[in-house]
Amino acid sequence: MYLYSKSYDVIVIGGGHAGVEAAGAAARMGMATLLISQSIDTIGVMSCNPAIGGLGKTHLVKEVDALDGYMGKAADRSAIHKRVLNASKGAAVQAVRYQACRDLYRKAIRQMVEATEGLDLFQAEVSDLVVENNQIVGVDTKTQIRFSAKTVVLTTGTFLAGKIHIGQVAQSGGRAGDNASESLATYLGKVFQIGRLKTGTPARIAKDSIDFSLMEVQASEESSPPMSYMSGPIDIPSLHCYITHTNTKTHDIIRKHMHDSPIFQKKEELMGPRYCPSIEQKVDRFPEKGSHQIFVEPEGLSLNEVYPNGISTSLPFSAQVDFIRTIKGFENARIVRPGYAISYGYFDPRGLLPTLETKQINGVFFAGQINGTTGYEEAAAQGIMAGINASLKVQGKDGYVMDRSSGYIGVLIDDLVTNGTIEPYRMFTSRAEHRLKLRCDNAHFRLTEAGYQLGVVGIERYQATIKEKEALSALLTKLEASRVSQCPVLLEKYPEDAHKTIADWIKRPEVSPQDLLSGDVVSEFSPYLVEMAATELRYAGYIAKQEAQIKRLAQASGLKIPQDFNYEVVKGLSAELLEKLEKVKPQTLGQASRISGITPSALSLISVYIKKQQAEVS
Ligand code: FAD
Repeated sequence: MYLYSKSYDVIVIGGGHAGVEAAGAAARMGMATLLISQSIDTIGVMSCNPAIGGLGKTHLVKEVDALDGYMGKAADRSAIHKRVLNASKGAAVQAVRYQACRDLYRKAIRQMVEATEGLDLFQAEVSDLVVENNQIVGVDTKTQIRFSAKTVVLTTGTFLAGKIHIGQVAQSGGRAGDNASESLATYLGKVFQIGRLKTGTPARIAKDSIDFSLMEVQASEESSPPMSYMSGPIDIPSLHCYITHTNTKTHDIIRKHMHDSPIFQKKEELMGPRYCPSIEQKVDRFPEKGSHQIFVEPEGLSLNEVYPNGISTSLPFSAQVDFIRTIKGFENARIVRPGYAISYGYFDPRGLLPTLETKQINGVFFAGQINGTTGYEEAAAQGIMAGINASLKVQGKDGYVMDRSSGYIGVLIDDLVTNGTIEPYRMFTSRAEHRLKLRCDNAHFRLTEAGYQLGVVGIERYQATIKEKEALSALLTKLEASRVSQCPVLLEKYPEDAHKTIADWIKRPEVSPQDLLSGDVVSEFSPYLVEMAATELRYAGYIAKQEAQIKRLAQASGLKIPQDFNYEVVKGLSAELLEKLEKVKPQTLGQASRISGITPSALSLISVYIKKQQAEVS
């Protein structure tokens, strides 16, 4: 074994979305950091669809960004199609979704990683952790090199003993084109409780074999806000996405070949991501549906490949060709890469402390898909926290645990380490009980100052945030002190509100902050800040109500749930929650509140029904 001469404070294993954020955070905190990955060329590679953001996920990107992470900046530097989701709903649950050029994204991450001071890269596969007296002291590579370290962050994604399935054909792999991490899986299997999960991806289709004229166009919404608070204008051409559908012929072929899908046939009893089911699962679960929507999304600016979002599959290749060619626009489709499913080893996150350090080995942290999550954003969020906490450990300081009321990252990690997960966990806004407070537009106000104190956020971002916070506070004071009558434009349009303060007037849902912009009360402030102030004022009342509801639920946590309680009578519970509640049969509301995915509104509904039943009986 060759002993590498430099010794590190933090070694991060894996250059995926968790790994780069962990390594970047540690280096920014002044740690001598090494990122070891199987291939330096695959740092920042997106294993599945090259898309960043989405409901609940954009919040995570914004929070990673507020801690000076890479993900938001890379998304801005690679976006080729943008959409605002939930545009008609309140600011708290809106999200931006970017389709990225996978090459530009990977390059942006690589450039930022390489430009980070104190962060070294090394290409190797780690085979073992080196542990002495229950304390991590380093890692060994398959090529017989030993690196010394005070802490290690493990972020191996879907690679631990990964097995790729296409029909009855199964082979070892971490994702298509990459080797699985077998030696490390064997090592970890001896020390930790390793379970297995699965996920899947659709076939990729050659763009020049598709007839887009038969599909509905979905143009990019170029006015969508940037993902990173620090990004200026970036000029990248945009591309269209398209929409098409499966049909009954497609479903007939899928049904005919269902027996060839090993994972579907449960030869391996594995859970996949509930919200990204394969097309064979959709056809099976919803026999009444004659078609399913497919978003046809570009993989890159100059790549001749598209991602047909919605038809993930592990059917045999011949069946994939047949069913894809029944779809409008895909009649002559040429498949460039087959769809496949992958099963992989994961670690029960209840074995982690809230800092993401393992309970078993001192100084070893786990982050990303290895902890049972799915998605780039969930991985990045854990990665940055593991990097921060590994650094704090080296510095001999207390760990940084984000509260559930401070960020979605706090919700994610608390859910994982408290409840564990039996299926790939993805973020949704409904998982956050304090969601009205946790908006995308205020992530930097919530987290950047704390990040600066920790040393993970640079001075430039910190100063910009403080300056904006002061400006917002000045604007709010001004809106509280000014009356509608002082603004001729408002007075003309809303004479009945003349006596109101502008702060009160703006709370009316039907008025627009745009009206305010045309007057001179706010002329010294940017439209962006005026919009933000309006959101703050409008949300204040709702946030107070939400906090009171959370308090009430906490007080009602001892409320007993009858064992024969029929959850189906509770109107408004999702199918997912119904299934989980029936399975767990919690004895109290408090126990129900700890079921993964349960929302405060669901708890409220259940408590109302229980109390109603109790009243009927007495
Ligand atoms: P990864 O991005 O997997 O990165 C792991 C890194 O670790 C890689 O760089 C690898 O080379 C390195 N590595 C592994 N073992 C070693 C070792 N022993 N030594 C050194 N380096 C090592 N997400 C969704 O949200 N929706 C989906 O529909 C979806 N579908 C998917 C389909 C497939 C087929 C796959 C493979 C993934 C899918 N994902 C999906 C998941 C998404 O890709 C992951 O959530 C995300 O990439 C996880 O990031 P990570 O950093 O944890 O791991």
